[in-house]
Amino acid sequence: MNFSELLNGNKLFNVVAEASRELGVDSYVIGGYVRDLLLKRPSKDIDIVCVGSGITLAQKVAQKMGDLPVVVFKNFGTAMIKMEVGELEFVGARKESYNRNSRKPVVENGTLQDDQNRRDFTINALAISLNENNFGELLDPFNGMSDLKRKIIKTPLDPGITFSDDPLRMMRAVRFATQLGFDIDPNTFQAIIENKERINIVSCERISDELNKIVLSPKPSYGFKLLYHCGLLEIIFKELTDLQGVESVGNRAHKDNFYHTLQVLDNVAEKSNDLWLRWAAILHDIAKPATKRYDEKIGWTFHGHEELGARMTPHIFRKLKLPLNEKMKFVQKLVRLHLRPIALVKENVTDSALRRLLFEAGDDIDALMTLCRADITSKNEVKVKKYLTNFNSVELKLKEVEEKDKLRNFKPVITGEIIMDTFNLTPGKVVGDIKDELREAILLGTIKNEYEEAYQFMLKFASDRFNLQPVK
Ligand code: ATP
Ligand code: MG
Repeated sequence: MNFSELLNGNKLFNVVAEASRELGVDSYVIGGYVRDLLLKRPSKDIDIVCVGSGITLAQKVAQKMGDLPVVVFKNFGTAMIKMEVGELEFVGARKESYNRNSRKPVVENGTLQDDQNRRDFTINALAISLNENNFGELLDPFNGMSDLKRKIIKTPLDPGITFSDDPLRMMRAVRFATQLGFDIDPNTFQAIIENKERINIVSCERISDELNKIVLSPKPSYGFKLLYHCGLLEIIFKELTDLQGVESVGNRAHKDNFYHTLQVLDNVAEKSNDLWLRWAAILHDIAKPATKRYDEKIGWTFHGHEELGARMTPHIFRKLKLPLNEKMKFVQKLVRLHLRPIALVKENVTDSALRRLLFEAGDDIDALMTLCRADITSKNEVKVKKYLTNFNSVELKLKEVEEKDKLRNFKPVITGEIIMDTFNLTPGKVVGDIKDELREAILLGTIKNEYEEAYQFMLKFASDRFNLQPVK
């Protein structure tokens, strides 16, 4: 098959072809870029493999493109040109051999075929020639093209060896299956089951990179189910597998919180591409196993799972090497508040309850509402519909209160400074008490968040409680 037309769309390939010809080396586009080109998926980075020095070829290409800077990774024998559209990577064709304790192979120069052998999946081993005699020809020793059509993830060589050599490939198999909506070939999947323990030699950062790509896929539940069934999930993220299972007493059973969580995750994924909102979905019920109780009168309960879940969040982030910054805080806040909006589905909900939620959620109220809406799952469609309708009315009421009181980034108009100035106080408990009282009064709706009203309230409270009079 010839793909010169596809390549001709990008002048870059002609430059690489010309540089290779001048150096007398063969070169090929290879890997993810070729796969995505054939799938008509957008793709940024381009990998070029050449039978010779990748670094020399990169330098020649950069020179032809107007002396662009080249980043050379001497240890790896690779070089990279950073362009606006993405990175252009060069590597010399190589042969790899592994030893048992490390993902890092021993590398020697090799042929194109050697280089294709070291690739993780048949669909990632496709190469297109940039050489004069067969420009645009597809080199496909493992029938990758047919696997693309059949939507199959499969290793080029014995999958047991492939995964044992570099266990990160097991995560990549699931990740590509999830991103592309492909199946994993049964022998390949079986080899993941057999090699799952090898994942322990891979660093947590690399595992989480792949996990995040799964989370960001169109239907992340698929990836988590694959990880669950091959046994990897239990090793890398035990807390999530602990959610699996249904217990019953008599005819009272609770729902399977693992599959419920995955449904919530998919629901969120339909509405938002925010990685951290998706993580909030994954963690929202994480403390259910630890808080599960059976009560004769009410049945199964998970009291306090939102609070314990919030407290577990930093530990899970640390273990998975996810960032411990404001992203974690955001996830933690959503886990903590995830039951609150639904608790407002009552006929006679007060404005002050709505105000309090707006105050606590702040700018994250929209994310919280998305999560909470996604959390409404049931096999009973009528029930879901009824709940969603009620939920719409909560959302409406929140909007009304928000517009009226501008509570989203609520700050009382009377600041600590004003309090101290008025009564000639130094920072301390009295100032704090007056501030708290003002905030509560505003949230409860006793007073409006307006200067004059709040000021008068402050004078009265300070006088009644502390016998304080204004100094001016
Ligand atoms: P994406 O860039 O979307 O993550 P990709 O296929 O380009 O997908 P990269 O990690 O950029 O993935 O790697 C580029 C190519 O290098 C792959 O297509 C594959 O051929 C090869 N490759 C990458 N990692 C491995 C690995 N761990 N084992 C074997 N081959 C790999
Ligand atoms: Mg890539």
